[in-house]
Amino acid sequence: MTDCVFCRIVAGQIPSTRVYEDDDVLAFMDIGHVNPGHVLIAVKRHAENLCALEETQAAAIARASVRVARAIQAAFAPAGLSVYQANGKPAGQTVFHYHVHLVPRHEADGMQLTWPVKNPPREKLQEYAARIVERLPRAQG
Ligand code: 5GP
Ligand code: ZN
Repeated sequence: MTDCVFCRIVAGQIPSTRVYEDDDVLAFMDIGHVNPGHVLIAVKRHAENLCALEETQAAAIARASVRVARAIQAAFAPAGLSVYQANGKPAGQTVFHYHVHLVPRHEADGMQLTWPVKNPPREKLQEYAARIVERLPRAQG
């Protein structure tokens, strides 16, 4: 039996409060609720993080995110909604099975993400960009 908690949720081996599913994703209530309506959208087939996703899984996550976000908006009318997704321990990931958080947001709700802005010169940005671009797949067709 797997010791991945989200694989076990997908398999129905441990209980969850489900809100949506299709062939590739399952959405369920986060047990560590930040605000009412906080939902996790996880891939069904185990993938540890963003870089491990197949493109069909990525597309399914995006589609489900839009659908569930609209339902949260209609149900709770939050003033805002954060989409949060962590990859790796330094980024805050605690369950190493790919998932996206949809968190309804309200003024002064206590949720914080510190964002230490560096503003490097444009030449540095160009250098960083080149390192990424040369590793991207060529556009198809
Ligand atoms: P991460 O920090 O990896 O982005 O978030 C993992 C999330 O999974 C946490 O917000 C935590 O509350 C949630 N979580 C962990 N175990 C369970 C569980 O057994 N059931 C549910 N519904 N959520 C879980
Ligand atoms: Zn898993």
